[in-house]
Amino acid sequence: NKFKSFMQENVLTMATVIGVFVGGLIGFIIKNSTGEWTKREIMYISFPGEIFLRMLKCLIVPLLVSSITSAIGGLDLSMSSKIATRAITYYFVTTISAVILGICLVTTIRPGQGAKIVETRTETIDKASKVLTPDTLMDLVSFLQHRTEIFENTSITPAQPMENWEFKSAQREGSNVLGLVMFSVILGTTIGRMREKGQLLQDFFTTLSEAMMTITSWVIWISPLGVAFLIAAKIIEMESIAATIQSLGWYFITVMIGLFLHGFGTIAVIFFLGTRRMPYRFIAKLSQVLATAFGTGSSSATMPLTIKCLDNMGIDPRVTRFVIPVGATINMDGTALYEAVAALFIAQYREMSYSFGTIVAVSITATAASIGAAGIPQAGLVTMVMVLDTVGLEPKDVSLIIAVDWLLDRFRTTINVMCDALGTILVNHLSKNDLASVDRLNAEPHELL
Ligand code: ASP
Repeated sequence: NKFKSFMQENVLTMATVIGVFVGGLIGFIIKNSTGEWTKREIMYISFPGEIFLRMLKCLIVPLLVSSITSAIGGLDLSMSSKIATRAITYYFVTTISAVILGICLVTTIRPGQGAKIVETRTETIDKASKVLTPDTLMDLVSFLQHRTEIFENTSITPAQPMENWEFKSAQREGSNVLGLVMFSVILGTTIGRMREKGQLLQDFFTTLSEAMMTITSWVIWISPLGVAFLIAAKIIEMESIAATIQSLGWYFITVMIGLFLHGFGTIAVIFFLGTRRMPYRFIAKLSQVLATAFGTGSSSATMPLTIKCLDNMGIDPRVTRFVIPVGATINMDGTALYEAVAALFIAQYREMSYSFGTIVAVSITATAASIGAAGIPQAGLVTMVMVLDTVGLEPKDVSLIIAVDWLLDRFRTTINVMCDALGTILVNHLSKNDLASVDRLNAEPHELL
């Protein structure tokens, strides 16, 4: 067992981080030494990675429902509301600060001013509805996805003309994570209130969650390979990077600076204020999770690994199992920052003047758009339509930033996942004493026996 946990914590972590670089390197070598690859050939390269991603995706729904339900069901109402209040305050404060930071950077650097973007496609995507807000609210009470979404093809590159985009206003097949979170919270609260009567269900969900974590620990073994192949395929698929960097370079740099300052500055300060510790040692321990987030571009798919890693770090499972699934769904600091920067970047490019009122509206909609974005690759690009609308821009304007979006998506997902994980450690720290007193109280009858 010692050997196994050593392997998991160190060797696998190293291998996954190396997988990102090796995948990138192999991708570049193949791209530069061979001709154009067909979609099918690229699919073969991404095949092992796709399997890894799908395995993780299989775990999302059962893990999310069982984790949240068992975590909340195992605590009394006042304790779970304490944890929920701390987590939601953290989510709110960090998301808003990410948006403010993004706005400050984009208004100072002004990346859109004088930018020369090669507009390859101008077909409208008007159908990218403005009904995203009511849709997000409706998603709270449904299991199926209602949202109008860009068709599954998330790897849109300039090589693929806009006609390949399909919007589906019908219910999409698949689960709606936001609705599942809401349902699990209600189910967990109900089970908790039922006390002895609900014990059977409580045990069921606790065992299900443990079983999912066991499967996760198996899937983790292929993460280095999975991540490497996913990245290699993405790089081979990518358009010529030089042209893209020329036109979108400053926009890219602005988002990257923002993500870096938020992740290693703002979050570090908040973490330090809450725990009196610097977060960097914890970030190092999370590197396997962060490499997976980068490789998959999906907070939801990374969720099983995040929970596993926090378990290994000794974080209370009652906190992890509630804070991580909810955070992976609604707390996306990187996405919020990017939404604000992108909307104002496009406004600058279009030479539109915007008032302070517009900036306030952008910060509100960017926050809402990050909450509404699913934890899947490039979901932020879809919810961006809502923010663009606030500035008076057309939905089709998202086409201006598509070229670099797949890469920015990887970085913002990494920051999203990192902020969730650090938030969980922070909430765990703040809830330690409360949880210990709950445990003491529960242990008392047994001590008397
Ligand atoms: N891919 C991001 C995530 O899963 C969401 C986004 O910004 O597109 O966290």
